[in-house]
Amino acid sequence: GATSPGDARYLEVSMVRKSFHGVTVMEGMNFHMARGELVSLLGPSGCGKTTLLRVIAGLMSADSGDMVLGPRNITRVPAHKRNISVVFQNYALFPHLTVAENVAFGLKARGDTAGMPTRVAEALALVRMNAFADKAVTGLSGGQQQRVAVARALVVQPDLLLLDEPFSALDRKLRETMQVELKSLLRDRGITAIFVTHDQEEALGVSDRIAVMNGGKIEQFADPSTLYARPKTPFVMDFVGLSLRLSGRVIEHRAASSVIETAQGQIVAPVELPVGSMAVVGVRPELVSAVATSEDAAGTGRNRIQPVLEDAMVLGSKTILHGRAGEGDRVICELSGIRSGFVRGQTVTLDWAVEDTLAYEVAG
Ligand code: ATP
Repeated sequence: GATSPGDARYLEVSMVRKSFHGVTVMEGMNFHMARGELVSLLGPSGCGKTTLLRVIAGLMSADSGDMVLGPRNITRVPAHKRNISVVFQNYALFPHLTVAENVAFGLKARGDTAGMPTRVAEALALVRMNAFADKAVTGLSGGQQQRVAVARALVVQPDLLLLDEPFSALDRKLRETMQVELKSLLRDRGITAIFVTHDQEEALGVSDRIAVMNGGKIEQFADPSTLYARPKTPFVMDFVGLSLRLSGRVIEHRAASSVIETAQGQIVAPVELPVGSMAVVGVRPELVSAVATSEDAAGTGRNRIQPVLEDAMVLGSKTILHGRAGEGDRVICELSGIRSGFVRGQTVTLDWAVEDTLAYEVAG
């Protein structure tokens, strides 16, 4: 065939446009992923994640654009012939059918019933639900219902699996267990899957790559560590993880760096931004340290600020310091373990490497 494992463009979505009642919610959407890859679509409510998922599934038609899955152009292929399975947020199980009947449903709907009992049993074994085959789905826990929904999606051996907020109905602990379980299942079987989520931790945890969406566009599409360490825009920086965030104005260049004047003093960032422009600087809180010295940091390769402490939260595995900050700013520092001795109202010295400083030009 035209595809092989690792095929970089197993799914290719090109120039997809979608509008509702004359309002465009997506325009020129391009997106592609490799075979076997696990990708998340991450973004705030209304950014278009579900729309993109539904267009790929064929549950909604695009106004224009093109989609290729493996060797097939699926743009005009009806949903039931795309060989794409969807796991919905509420699992959409049939309450009057047993677990096994729910799983068999997908095969029956396709008229693909050869060896059905064996295939249903295999699919249930994958999600460790064989013991429940003859049980009613209504008596199952949320996690068990999700496993049945996954078995039903996988029994047809889809070319692509789409999951719309698959963990949102589960409590936190179960959600984490199911994330680990589902991720290893998909990996072991080499299944290509797209998760829709608005939970950044979930996206970081389950995906090979994450497409961060905002207003119908992909702002950045990268692996979790790149997204976290090198967000391309302030939106991505704020949406994926926490950060210390200060706004200011670029006042000068030094070598390949910019000096930004903020309410907390001058910050040096390892990027060249136009002098005079407004900027946002950021740094991940675990890269910020609390130091004893109050000396000027000039020439040390570090940025140093001295905010007044608003709060120190001892969370056990970490201690979070919040400094007083102006509107739109956020002063936060994450220290590992239990750190006592910080008092509200005291002035602290916080410090981080220039090379860890993120900075972006923003509209003034
Ligand atoms: P959520 O996380 O809340 O589900 P989302 O990122 O999945 O959000 P979409 O549901 O794709 O976002 O919606 C994208 C935009 O399209 C929104 O502005 C929404 O109001 C609009 N929209 C989605 N479906 C329809 C529809 N059937 N009719 C009209 N507008 C719609």
